[in-house]
Amino acid sequence: MNHHASHFCQWLILVLALTGSGGLRAETAAFAWLEDDSAALTVDEVRTLPAGQWQPFTPSDILNLGFSSGGFWLKVHVPPKPVNRLLEIGYPLLDDVSVFWELDGQLIEQHRTGDQWAFDSRPIHHRNFVFLVPSNTEPVTAYVRIRTQGSVQIPVRIVPSGQFLKEEQLSYGWQAVFLGIMVAMALYNLFVFVIVRHPTYLWYVLTVVAAAMVQLHLHGLMFQWLWPDWPAMNRYFTAPVISLNIAFATVFTISFLALKRYSPLLFRASQVVVGLAVLAFVYGLFGPYQHGIVVVSVFGAVITPAAWVLGLWVWRKGQVLAGFYVLAWTPLLMGHLILAVSKLGYLPRSFVTEFAPQLGVALEVILLSFALAYRISLERQRRQQAQEHALAVQRQANQTLEARVQERTEALEQVNEQLKAISLTDGLTQVANRRRFDEKLAVEWSRAARQGHPLSLLLLDIDHFKLVNDQLGHLVGDDCLIRVAQLCADEIQRSGDLLARYGGEEFSVLLPATPEQGARSVAERLRLIIARTPVYAGDGDSPVSLTVSVGVATMAPDPGVEPEALIRQADEALYQAKESGRNRVVQWFSSSACSDPGREKSGQSR
Ligand code: GH3
Ligand code: MG
Ligand code: MG
Repeated sequence: MNHHASHFCQWLILVLALTGSGGLRAETAAFAWLEDDSAALTVDEVRTLPAGQWQPFTPSDILNLGFSSGGFWLKVHVPPKPVNRLLEIGYPLLDDVSVFWELDGQLIEQHRTGDQWAFDSRPIHHRNFVFLVPSNTEPVTAYVRIRTQGSVQIPVRIVPSGQFLKEEQLSYGWQAVFLGIMVAMALYNLFVFVIVRHPTYLWYVLTVVAAAMVQLHLHGLMFQWLWPDWPAMNRYFTAPVISLNIAFATVFTISFLALKRYSPLLFRASQVVVGLAVLAFVYGLFGPYQHGIVVVSVFGAVITPAAWVLGLWVWRKGQVLAGFYVLAWTPLLMGHLILAVSKLGYLPRSFVTEFAPQLGVALEVILLSFALAYRISLERQRRQQAQEHALAVQRQANQTLEARVQERTEALEQVNEQLKAISLTDGLTQVANRRRFDEKLAVEWSRAARQGHPLSLLLLDIDHFKLVNDQLGHLVGDDCLIRVAQLCADEIQRSGDLLARYGGEEFSVLLPATPEQGARSVAERLRLIIARTPVYAGDGDSPVSLTVSVGVATMAPDPGVEPEALIRQADEALYQAKESGRNRVVQWFSSSACSDPGREKSGQSR
């Protein structure tokens, strides 16, 4: 890239050197002009005018006569010289250019051309008006009549054909390079627009196309290339295309600088400029040609430096891209400035002065294209940052959510455990409930079956409990149940044993891996402790004495036998205990009769 840049610079320096030296040789021809206000003078009248009517000038001061609806005459006296020479009028937008060659007081040749005539009207097919000097051996005089509605700039010179061709190589080559740059930038950014879909790129492309057309048109190339047989187009092209260029460039500026964000006022002002440019476009199309040209010239002259200042202002406000904008706008401004200064006659005419605006446009377009590329990178950075931020936020949210879920889950598990405990506990006595008992019985039953251990079950039923309820009230009855449960719980200490409220005032005790003897002694212990412990229940201060009857059953479960068998046996034994007088332990024996070996002498009745 750098390599190319340095080549370009070398090439530029070469161009400057060449054109500085070769552009303007001392002319031997004599130039004079006069204004024909009425535009009525004929060539014969002009030829007879006294010399005092003519104003001499040198062609290095470009004749710049402002706007006029009249006509102008030039008189160019060309002394003989042994080379072929050309008379060139280097401003292709002149409407009507007539050349009359005089030799020995005779008109020997005449041409009528201008951009209101078809391109074919030119004796030499060239974007400028170029005429062959008809004699090398005799002095000849050219009378040139110029009428134009546009600005009257008449860069005229007599130039040897060889030199003209040499310069033409460079000049036309530059036009091709310029066109190439503009086409490349426009196409590239059009592709970017198609992909990125940001309007800035489209406005840029339109600006480039309009600017290219303006520059090529000012050099007569649009006419030459596109509508050589349609000279009427020229009148409808100049002012409108310049207006379009201003409109597109302004919309691009608004979009590129994000003007709305930086200053609503300047944004409004720029919109007004766009509106004025559109009006100028319409006026250029339908209004008087000359006025249209004046309007767009003044408009362009005001708007170019204004845009530069605007860029500078937005840049100082901290908009990075505005720096590029100012950088890009500077060569354009310089180009226009150089052109203006040279047109005013302060700079000698040269390749550089003539093509400075074009060079400015090309540099502007290249720099802005670079800025637009940079803009993509900025945008990507911004998007990446936003993405990372969003990702971090999401990660944070996820973590918070996970923590919450964890907390909730733990709380739920706790509650579940509590619920489970509640669902397995008897609400009144706080010992295991019937459901818990059933579960435990099933588990222990199959374990005992697996291991071949005996499983024992005690069923306790409080004696005459209905009486307690009837005489002391239900609440006292409840207290008694609580007390009995506590007494039993205190006795049932071995892990694996389970005390449960079986229902009403009945309790059950499951004793895994406990043979008949052990079960019986536990039952006896329970019966005794209850019989001996007076229960203080309710508010009453006289204690209640309670006794229980206990049925005991022990089984080593056989396969195919259900645990209900054990309950049935214990129940039968309990029934026996009640039948045989209460406050006793009865053990079920396989002989199908229940034995009552421990009939207590003391606890038979209360
Ligand atoms: P026995 O067992 O000695 O034959 O006589 P009983 O009076 O205990 O008779 P039964 O077992 O048929 O009566 C049970 C009584 O227990 C019925 C009811 O009044 C009482 N009862 C059952 N559950 C509760 C309870 O939760 N609270 C109270 N206060 N009383 C209960
Ligand atoms: Mg009962
Ligand atoms: Mg009872």
